[in-house]
Amino acid sequence: MLISSTGEITPRIFFLGNLVQQVFLIRGRENALIDAGMSIGGPLILSDLKQYLGDENLLHWNLLTHSHFDHAGSTPYLKRKIPGLKIGASPVASQVFQNPRAVELIRSLNHDLELAAHLDENVAFTGIEVDRTLQAGDTLDLGKGVEIQVLATPGHTRCSISFYLPGDQAVFCAEAGGMPDRDGDIMPEFLASLPDYIDSLERLSRLPVQYVGLAHGGIVTGDEARSYFSRSLDSTRSFQNEITDLFRKGQENREVVRTLKERYYDSGKISQPYRAFMLNLEAMVKQVKEILNAE
Ligand SMILES: [Zn+2]
Repeated sequence: MLISSTGEITPRIFFLGNLVQQVFLIRGRENALIDAGMSIGGPLILSDLKQYLGDENLLHWNLLTHSHFDHAGSTPYLKRKIPGLKIGASPVASQVFQNPRAVELIRSLNHDLELAAHLDENVAFTGIEVDRTLQAGDTLDLGKGVEIQVLATPGHTRCSISFYLPGDQAVFCAEAGGMPDRDGDIMPEFLASLPDYIDSLERLSRLPVQYVGLAHGGIVTGDEARSYFSRSLDSTRSFQNEITDLFRKGQENREVVRTLKERYYDSGKISQPYRAFMLNLEAMVKQVKEILNAE
């Protein structure tokens, strides 16, 4: 089943924001927010935090699955509103946030959407200072028996990590798990490394899960959650084959990207900002090409 409305999922897990600005509040004695959506989602997330926590200052942690603009976008805004907020992210994400070119890309992708949104508040992405680097194997103890385990799930980005709540058998993997499209097919998201992405999916597929918190579009539960990662693996392999076939037919990189853009984006399957979709697609085509070149 796919849960696509916000609210309480379990007594410890709350789905806040909306299907695009999708974030999860994990409640123990301390409270943690997983991801932060795009910068334009900041005010909505803040008002949801007020609603669920009574006082937004009761949020202790913002844990980031990775450094992409649509996951870390409103972190600086939330930090401006909640001065005591501590940011947790992988060591690689922490380095990414120190890189001025990466920060500028995150700022500019968010800014594109701010221009269209006409907000009356400054939500600008102004950079992130990570307070705690989260390594594979780390556990964040929120108290009241609520633990968040950190899993290394690189491949979507080099900095991707996932969060696992053993108590609820819930995993929050963002695009390390792929991204269901409008038809319910899972679009692969191996931007940084196809072999790492497959390895991460194989490890995720062995976790006992009842809930898979997606990057966008809701939460998958029950049988669909249990088969989610193996479906994602299948669609990754078939997308790799599709790209490989286009190269073997003699298409150049740019033609392959154009063909796939027509098949996936122009057909209306994907609900992602165009610029982000194209950056991702170009990166995946490049990944497959590198594997072909190495053969
Ligand atoms: Zn991403």
